[in-house]
Amino acid sequence: MSANTSWDETVDLLVVGSGAGAMTAAITAAERGGKVLVIEKSDRYGGNSAMSGGGLWVPNNHLMEGVGIKDSPEDAWTYLKGPVDAAPEDPAGVSRTRAARGQVSDRARAGEVRFPAGVC
Ligand SMILES: Cc1cc2nc3c(=O)[nH]c(=O)nc-3n(C[C@H](O)[C@H](O)[C@H](O)COP(=O)(O)OP(=O)(O)OC[C@H]3O[C@@H](n4cnc5c(N)ncnc54)[C@H](O)[C@@H]3O)c2cc1C
Repeated sequence: MSANTSWDETVDLLVVGSGAGAMTAAITAAERGGKVLVIEKSDRYGGNSAMSGGGLWVPNNHLMEGVGIKDSPEDAWTYLKGPVDAAPEDPAGVSRTRAARGQVSDRARAGEVRFPAGVC
């Protein structure tokens, strides 16, 4: 990159795509003061997320207690690690399942997304 390079936009976070994962990252970064740019290759935003039924499995989420279901990041990781063929001792697994709860409850608290509890 030369010293003379000029950019159309300069951002803290460039988010490629506009599905649920991308938008969650974009909103979270923007809330924390980051300058965010979302780019989308199709002529509509939302991706597969917008076409799907919108059902999410979120381990140990904040709505489960209200309907009497017990869960934990450790139990969720035990459930997940078989199908994803992860190393049983992978420390990132439990921390990811722990982070999932906050990702959903933050969005719900901000009032952007309503999450009704459902059991399937
Ligand atoms: C009809 C339907 C039903 C479904 N049912 C279920 C279900 O019951 N349970 C379940 O778990 N999942 C289901 N899914 C799958 C689920 O919706 C997806 O796994 C999920 O939405 C993926 O989300 P995402 O955030 O990864 O990205 P997506 O929502 O797939 O978004 C990706 C976005 O990135 C954009 N993009 C890709 N490449 C680029 C690029 N190079 N530059 C710019 N933009 C780019 C795409 O155009 C798209 O908008 C279903 C999907 C569909 C379509």
